[in-house]
Amino acid sequence: MRAEIIAVGSELLTPARVDTNSLWLTAKLNEIGVEVSQKSILSDDRDLLAAAVAGALSRAPLVLITGGLGPTEDDVTREAVAQAMHRRLLFDEAICAGIEAIFARRGRKMAEINRRQAFLVEGAAALDNPNGTAPGQWIDYPGGIVLLLPGPPQELKPMFEELCLPRLKERLPKAAIRTRFFRVAGMGESDVDALIAPIYKEYRNPVTTILAAAGDVQVHLRAQCQTEEEAEALVEELGAKIRERLGDRIYSLNGDPLENVVGNLLRERGATLAVAESCTAGLLGGRITEAAGASEYFLGGFQVYGKGMKARLLGLDEKLVEEAGVVSEAAAKAMADSARDRTGATYAISITGEAGPESSSPGIEPGTVWIGVAGPEGCEARMFKFPTGRARVRAFAVQTALNLLRLALK
Ligand code: AMP
Ligand code: MG
Repeated sequence: MRAEIIAVGSELLTPARVDTNSLWLTAKLNEIGVEVSQKSILSDDRDLLAAAVAGALSRAPLVLITGGLGPTEDDVTREAVAQAMHRRLLFDEAICAGIEAIFARRGRKMAEINRRQAFLVEGAAALDNPNGTAPGQWIDYPGGIVLLLPGPPQELKPMFEELCLPRLKERLPKAAIRTRFFRVAGMGESDVDALIAPIYKEYRNPVTTILAAAGDVQVHLRAQCQTEEEAEALVEELGAKIRERLGDRIYSLNGDPLENVVGNLLRERGATLAVAESCTAGLLGGRITEAAGASEYFLGGFQVYGKGMKARLLGLDEKLVEEAGVVSEAAAKAMADSARDRTGATYAISITGEAGPESSSPGIEPGTVWIGVAGPEGCEARMFKFPTGRARVRAFAVQTALNLLRLALK
């Protein structure tokens, strides 16, 4: 079963507002086996919207439209849907009385423009809105179902959950969707794909999607079947093959971010962690403490960004730094060792590199980063050449540092 979502509102086409309704609706629809095949964001323009609605009706048996049900002239969803479906708009006395009563309860008189909210598309059933004035509308037509839902999320959510979901469940062919969400570190997107494409290409169901961010490749599997058991069996079958192929390059089997995974490993081992950050200057500590409860294992660290701070805060030998350079194996190791010694942590991670755009260390290209990990088994440092772009280098450095610690903990 396929659905289309249309989010209506000119504000959603500015940088100031995000259409979150369609994301929420998509999650709810997926739970009952409905796939969203297309969604659009439309300005408050009646003709544009009518054309979009007509297009959606011609493609999908379920069309959900959110927003544009307010009382003002710019709220044109009712008119546009009526136009697209070649139906009239009919005034509903009972709805109007209901809106008047809402105003009366607030000790106000209903403004004339609110009467607009009492118009239903011919043949529509009104969906009660206890959290606002505009009712939603449920329209059955020979090709399927059209739902008009209010824009404010606090009105849309209860209306959809209480009045629409149960009815949709009854009406839809039984279908279930099950997903898996693996995350991989230490590999690029195309390398991950090269490894697992031969496996997932054998399957049209589940569908496999690969998404990539700095140092983080996400593998999403999604199976759609008639029953939950069948869908679960399919994602498990393909999931097991992918898990086996990627091995411990997968850091998360449930979508958890790397800082949580590393945090759990530290907690399980009763170990603690400290950091010494040069080119990331606190980003790594920030990431580690995004995990709730990080104080159980994270002690803190050293921001040694400026010249001389590596010597002053961590006691690094100025001569060593001078000779080997601040972006060097020797500096990374000395930083990690010293951070571990000075805090008494079980593990310490260090990052020193050249984030760019210009290089401040002679002979070191932007994107070059040394990462050190010190622990009970000793200290090791590795050099990486990350894709350039200041923000990207720093994001890669943090992710890679966390991954090196994860591998050391394994
Ligand atoms: P409307 O029903 O078009 O009058 O929308 C009223 C308010 O609901 C807007 O000002 C937004 O704050 C919010 N809203 C409308 N559409 C959405 C959407 N797709 N996602 C999130 N919020 C929305
Ligand atoms: Mg609006």
